[in-house]
Amino acid sequence: MRVVKDLKSSSVVIPKGTIILETRPFAHVLKSYYRYTHCDHCLKTNGGKLLKCSGCQYSHYCDRLCQKQSWVIHKSECMNLKRILPRVIPDAARLMARIVVKLEKGGAEEKEYYDKYCFRKFKDLMSHYSDIKNDPKRMEHFTCLHEVLKEYMGEEALPNAAELLGIYGRICVNSYNIVDVDMNSVGVGIYLGPSIIDHSCKPNCVAIFEGTRISIRALVDMPQLDWANIRISYIDVLNTTNIRRSELQSSYYFLCECEKCKEPEKFESAAICPSCDEPCSIDQDSCKGCKKEITSTFRNKFNEVSQFTARYLENIKNEAYLDVSKTCLKRHANVLHPMNIQNVRVTESAFDASINLGYWEDAEKFGIELIPGYLHYYGEIHPSTGILYSVLGKIQLNLSKAKLALDSLSKAMKILTITHGEKHSLVRENLRPLLSQAIVENRK
Ligand SMILES: [Zn+2]
Ligand SMILES: [Zn+2]
Ligand SMILES: [Zn+2]
Ligand SMILES: [Zn+2]
Repeated sequence: MRVVKDLKSSSVVIPKGTIILETRPFAHVLKSYYRYTHCDHCLKTNGGKLLKCSGCQYSHYCDRLCQKQSWVIHKSECMNLKRILPRVIPDAARLMARIVVKLEKGGAEEKEYYDKYCFRKFKDLMSHYSDIKNDPKRMEHFTCLHEVLKEYMGEEALPNAAELLGIYGRICVNSYNIVDVDMNSVGVGIYLGPSIIDHSCKPNCVAIFEGTRISIRALVDMPQLDWANIRISYIDVLNTTNIRRSELQSSYYFLCECEKCKEPEKFESAAICPSCDEPCSIDQDSCKGCKKEITSTFRNKFNEVSQFTARYLENIKNEAYLDVSKTCLKRHANVLHPMNIQNVRVTESAFDASINLGYWEDAEKFGIELIPGYLHYYGEIHPSTGILYSVLGKIQLNLSKAKLALDSLSKAMKILTITHGEKHSLVRENLRPLLSQAIVENRK
């Protein structure tokens, strides 16, 4: 693990892009959905060439080295995984099992320093024990996992129920979703040092993954490294304040009081005023800008359109549909403000769907329309914004729009070298070659 050492007294001690913490997981698990495509140990794809564990026939690895390094953890689970086949253990249960074994083998004493004098052990992680006990949904999940674990490991290998619930609670509130280079959420990890970091909907840092390695990188210039003020976002911030707050409450048991949650946001649920085109709230009697009355006809229309879109967004989850997104967007026109979160999310869904279908003209159009929303809600220096520019640039290359592609890819490079760093495979293997191609095509 690396920590920032010298805090010299210049005006900006920690420029944006600085890695303030970098470490490996205390425990992690590859999501079972990715078991044929990603290495069980390092979570990379190794270009699709993986070798199978001959013991369990379940885990796959890049090579002998990954398999060997994984064996410390895998040896205790290999037989269990094999025994329950063709059933597959839920990811959360497998992670719990790995933690149970690790804690028993000295892991309870493992310390991770996040600065010179401060460290965390697994037991220092918040368990939210009583919150979890009073949460019927989580308790049902826990009971179910407990039963699975009894069969998977054998009851004698498990700690008592209270201790196991403590482990479950720590996983619920402290785990990180590990994303791969294509932004798929491929694994879950517990990181001791980074678990110290609190949430903000307007964070000053971001967690970036390269395989299972996590880096906490500064998104803004900071005068000093003050752990009390380091914030990352636990959730996707492209949501309304109400949704963000309820998500944080139900998953992490706190009411978010960050600056973004406290300041009223005029765009997130805004209608577009029929009289002056400015954002307005249908909860008001009149438009704040032009003072004209908001009629009940307009209010009803807004509610109808917004509910239609909410249902669509609720139902799509992982799948985006171009036709329905286009219908939503048509209905939004002159009703929802373009910066309304629902409009941004549907545009995002239309963008994804066009890419999946290979409709590059559509994809470019939606990508461009998405930029203002991303800049507003994520901010300029943010992985999502950088990746949007990068994907847009790639689409423009496909469309032989070399000049526009160069512009988009240069913007992506500027952002992603801060959020991910020059050495990250996303920059080195994905973005850098595209940018070189765009440069060459601009010379033609
Ligand atoms: Zn195995
Ligand atoms: Zn590997
Ligand atoms: Zn907040
Ligand atoms: Zn108005």
